[in-house]
Parts: sequence; structure tokens; C-alpha cells
Amino acid sequence: MNEHDSERMTGILEAQGCASVADAGCADMVILNTCSIREKAEQKFFSELGRLKSLKASNPGLKIAVAGCIAQQEGAGILSRAPYVDMIFGPSDISRLSSLLEQQRFGERTLVDTTGDPEYHRKRLPATRKDRLKAWVSIMYGCDNFCTYCVVPYLRGRERSRMPDDIAAEVRELGHWGYKEVTLLGQNVNSYGKGLGKGIDFPALLRLINEILGIERIRFVTSHPRDLSEKLIIAIRELPKVCESIHLPVQSGSDSILTAMNRRYRREDYLDKVKKLREAVPHIALTTDIIAGFPGETEQDFEMTMQLLSEVRYDGIFAFKYSKRPGTSALGLPGHLEEDIKEKRLERVLALQKEITIQKNRELIGTTQEILLDGRSKKGGMITGRTRGNKAVNVAADPSLIGSLVNVKISEAGMNSLTGQLCE
Ligand code: SAM
Ligand code: SF4
Repeated sequence: MNEHDSERMTGILEAQGCASVADAGCADMVILNTCSIREKAEQKFFSELGRLKSLKASNPGLKIAVAGCIAQQEGAGILSRAPYVDMIFGPSDISRLSSLLEQQRFGERTLVDTTGDPEYHRKRLPATRKDRLKAWVSIMYGCDNFCTYCVVPYLRGRERSRMPDDIAAEVRELGHWGYKEVTLLGQNVNSYGKGLGKGIDFPALLRLINEILGIERIRFVTSHPRDLSEKLIIAIRELPKVCESIHLPVQSGSDSILTAMNRRYRREDYLDKVKKLREAVPHIALTTDIIAGFPGETEQDFEMTMQLLSEVRYDGIFAFKYSKRPGTSALGLPGHLEEDIKEKRLERVLALQKEITIQKNRELIGTTQEILLDGRSKKGGMITGRTRGNKAVNVAADPSLIGSLVNVKISEAGMNSLTGQLCE
């Protein structure tokens, strides 16, 4: 989501005649687009800001802007650590970037404006996309779920869906420009359409996009398990362009931790949805997010998560140590754990998943997979692409095939990628 926000900021600035440069040392302005989801991202931001300070010392004309969630969270507070910053604006202010820049140019002090554009979700912003075949498309902003560990609802605001016609127009344009794949973005895509009117929901949006010429594949992130409906499962099964792949964050395998997280589903509800998904779409690739060491997580709770991983056998996971975030209600929960306990649990989760991912990848050896070839591989002379389940595959093929859908017979499987041969 942040990367796509950066693509939009680039699009807005390029429309004004600016050009991107690869090296900050050659830039007139640097925008740091920040993430605040975990403390580590915040630390990275402040050390990057430190590096820019010395750049500004040698080039006093350099403008430094801070965008994104840390800007929203800290506002003018950033200036107490970095008084040399020229501009601070939040994620819902991107649509106002041009006018903010003008104001900054004529003002004497740092411009701090994180008020947000109330019409943000109704605006179609230009975007300079990095990829030529695969595009991110935001379908909604913000989140209403208030999971107790998460800053997103506080920083990105309440859930707002874009109008289906605006989304379809953007995807149609992408199809026209030769894009083959779109990934629909939202914090909880399954609740898309809330407040838009009767009959507009996420499965209906998928049906609309499935009709668009040129687009061959549709993906989406992220699905909240509670809102995964039977209607969506049917849409995944029926719509040929919707890839058989779903990211369904579980966070924990223990009911008491799920309650403390305010996830509003129980382990059994989650497992039941996984069962229904697999019955309807047998080869669906499943990935998840896990938080290790949430406050109050006992060794038994943690074991429940490990058991769930063994039971579900995900294709891949993203796992994180619980990180204290300002303003979230989990801060006030009893039983915050020591770093080394969280660290060890994270290591155990990752080690278990590594075995499962390798096994699952090996199960694909001998199968034929549809691959969208999307670039040159780091493996000498090969071309790389992705299966419908979103696994990377390296294949010996002519570079002229980049952008095509091909069938590949899988012959080797590692942790991070597969290798195969083109089928005749
Ligand atoms: N909206 C998505 C959902 O409901 O799962 C995910 C959004 S969040 C940007 C991505 C992941 O970051 C979450 O699924 C969660 O696992 C992790 N995360 C969020 N806050 C966290 C925190 N305070 N500490 C550790 N991990 C966190
Ligand atoms: Fe954060 Fe929960 Fe919303 Fe995901 S659903 S963005 S984890 S509050």
C-alpha cells in the first residue's frame, strides 16, 4: 500500500514536470514515505532522516518531506528530532500534494498538514507505476476493525471504498496500456462497498473487473477472515481471471489471544473458512500473518499457533514479533513479554513454516503451472514469472516471451522459488 502511495506521489510530481532521480544526492527534494506498523520501520525512518541531514548540510537547497503514517502519527513532533525537515503530510493528503508544495515554497517555516482530504477516496490520482505488467489498484482506504495491536485505523482513518466505476475505469486503462495483472488493495477488501449502496460488494467488484479486456489475472490483499463470505469463495471458484491464491491473516491460533486482539473470529471459525475455501478451490494457495508474543500469550497459546500452522499448512507466512504501537489499546493489556521470548517464538514459527513451505513447493514438482513471465531472473540467463498461486518460477525461455502466459512443467523446488521447463 505504501509503495503504491509512492507511485502516486511520483505520478503527481511528474505531471508537474518533476523527474525522479536514482541518487538522493542529485535531488532537489526527497520525500520519505514512512510506515509505522512496527517499531522497526520507525527506527529505519529516523536513521534515514539522519543520513539526509548530512546531505542537506552539503546542499542547503535540498527540501526534505516526510509523508505516510509516521508523518500522520508524529506531525510536528518530527521536528523536535529533525528540525531540518521542510514538509510533513499524511497518507490522505497525497491528493493535495501539488498545493502543499506551493504553500511550502512560499512559506518560511516547515509546512505541517495532516488534516487529510475528505474526498480522497473519490479522486483519481495519477500514478507512475514501477512495473509494466503488474499493477496495484487501491479499492478502499482506511480500516474500521481496530485490532488492538494495530495503528492503521488511527493513521489511515475509517474505511472508505472507492466507487466501482472509478476502479473499473482505472483497470480498463491499465488493460489498454498492456498491463496483465492487477492486485486490488485494501486493509480489508472483503468488506469493500460498505456504505456505497445496495448490491456493491467485493464479489460484485471482482465480477466487474473480470470482464475487463487485456487483464489476465486478478489478485487482492488483504482479506479479513471474519468477512470472508461464501459469495467470495464462489467468485474465486467461478471467475477465470481471479487467481487461486488468498492471504488470510490469522495472527494467532489461540482463542483467548484472538479475543484480546479483537479479531472477532475464533480458531474454529477460521479453520472452517479454510476448509470451505479448499473444498471449493482445491489447489488454492494460502498465506497468512502471525504475531508472535502478543501481550499475555502463554507457552500454551503459542503452541496453539504452531499447531494451527501444521494443520493448515500454509504456502507461506509473514511473521512478526508483537511491537508496541502508540495509541493502540494492546499497550494497556497485562502480560507484555520480554524481547527474547518474542524473538524465540518468532524463530520457532519461522523454522516450522520453512519446512512446510519447502514441502508444499516440492509437491508441485511434476505439475504443469500457468506462469505469467514478468522479467529476467537472477539465475543466469533464465526468465522468471509467477504461478497463479503467486510462487516464483525460473524457466529457460526467450526474453521476447516476457509478458506472456505460458505453461511450465515444474522440475525443481526450493524455499523461495521453483524451476521448470516450458511445455510445447
Ligand atoms: N489489514 C490486514 C489484516 O487485517 O490482517 C493487515 C494489515 S497490517 C498492515 C499487516 C500485518 O502487520 C498484520 O496482519 C499484523 O500481522 C502485523 N502487525 C500489525 N500491527 C502489528 C504490531 N503492533 N506488532 C506486530 N505486528 C503487527
Ligand atoms: Fe490493522 Fe486489523 Fe485493520 Fe488489519 S484489520 S489494518 S490488522 S486494524
